[in-house]
Amino acid sequence: MPSLHTIAAQKLQLLEAKHQRRTLRIYTPKAGAYVHMEGRDYISFSSNDYLGLSHHPEVIEAARAALEKYGTGAGASRLITGNHPLYDELETLLAQMHGTQSACVFGSGYMASIGVIPALVQHADVIVADKLIHACMLDAAKLSGATLYRYAHNNLNHCREILKAHRAEHANCLLLSESIFSMDGDRAPVPELSALAREYDAWLMVDTAHSIQHSASGAQGLGDVILGTLSKAAGSYGGYICADKAVTDYLKSAARSLIFSTALPPATLAASIASLRIMERETELCVKPLTYAKMFTGMLGLPEAQSAIVPLIVGQSESALKASQALAVRGFLVHAIRPPTVPPDTARLRITFSALHEQSHVEALAEAVREEVLCAPLL
Ligand SMILES: *Cc1c(COP(=O)(O)O)cnc(C)c1O
Repeated sequence: MPSLHTIAAQKLQLLEAKHQRRTLRIYTPKAGAYVHMEGRDYISFSSNDYLGLSHHPEVIEAARAALEKYGTGAGASRLITGNHPLYDELETLLAQMHGTQSACVFGSGYMASIGVIPALVQHADVIVADKLIHACMLDAAKLSGATLYRYAHNNLNHCREILKAHRAEHANCLLLSESIFSMDGDRAPVPELSALAREYDAWLMVDTAHSIQHSASGAQGLGDVILGTLSKAAGSYGGYICADKAVTDYLKSAARSLIFSTALPPATLAASIASLRIMERETELCVKPLTYAKMFTGMLGLPEAQSAIVPLIVGQSESALKASQALAVRGFLVHAIRPPTVPPDTARLRITFSALHEQSHVEALAEAVREEVLCAPLL
């Protein structure tokens, strides 16, 4: 048998040949939308901290106060002694914001997904999912043992065909989508999916990781189970589910990622609470990322942005990497997203806009993208 070293080295070589090897670089956040990487400052268009709340003085102060009062770690899982009173405050706030009876906070969005989906469906059941759902839901679907069907992205007719053909063969049915797709920035037809779910006796679960604003009125149509993260627009860390109280009560006895993992640090809970209060209060801040995204697509004559995420699909991984490097030379950090994160031949630049950007940043990026990407011979 070859040594583990040999096997790992071979696998790395294969990834390298496909331009799919990934490496970790060191990034230090700086003031505003700037980030320092390997000796140079860049304007970052690659962060999901859409509102800059990770550096908001109120959020930092809330975390600092909790840190000094309660220490660094939770010490045990939520079911043992880690269930700090701040969980209660955070969950009450989340349920209010989403207009649901209840909320349940997990270690991260990924952990919420892999805990919740296998708790809701098992072998006798079926999952019908959008082709582009996030890896955390796909992994959870596999873990659940339920039969999995995937419909073409945002294609309601295909979704209906699958339900028509296979719904009756299974006990329970879970429909999975994202509200805003993480790598494409487009929106799902959630009200129509919700109607399909009712028609075919299915539950709808929607991942809202990239939604910046939650209003109780808008969120009510988001399905039976809303999955969210505190790690993106909220600038903190953690994941959550909003649903009926019986559902969240059940999850506390059934979701293995909640039961068998240590609770979040109290300071992280405090930061999340402070961030959510700012998001509720500062509606103007919350619309800025989308305003910038629309400004950018308008400048380049691209289809109008539907969210703070704008993809520039270039096709091959190598081209995406080259385009990203060309923008880096001009001082912009825009990540190349490659398969298997996105489907084969759809490697892209994924541009995210933040409330920390200024109009001049958006204008400068548009000019660089026009020259380095849209008009470049390498693509
Ligand atoms: C980031 C992300 C998650 C995972 O959330 P974390 O809190 O980072 O684990 C889930 N779904 C989507 C669509 C995401 O983009």
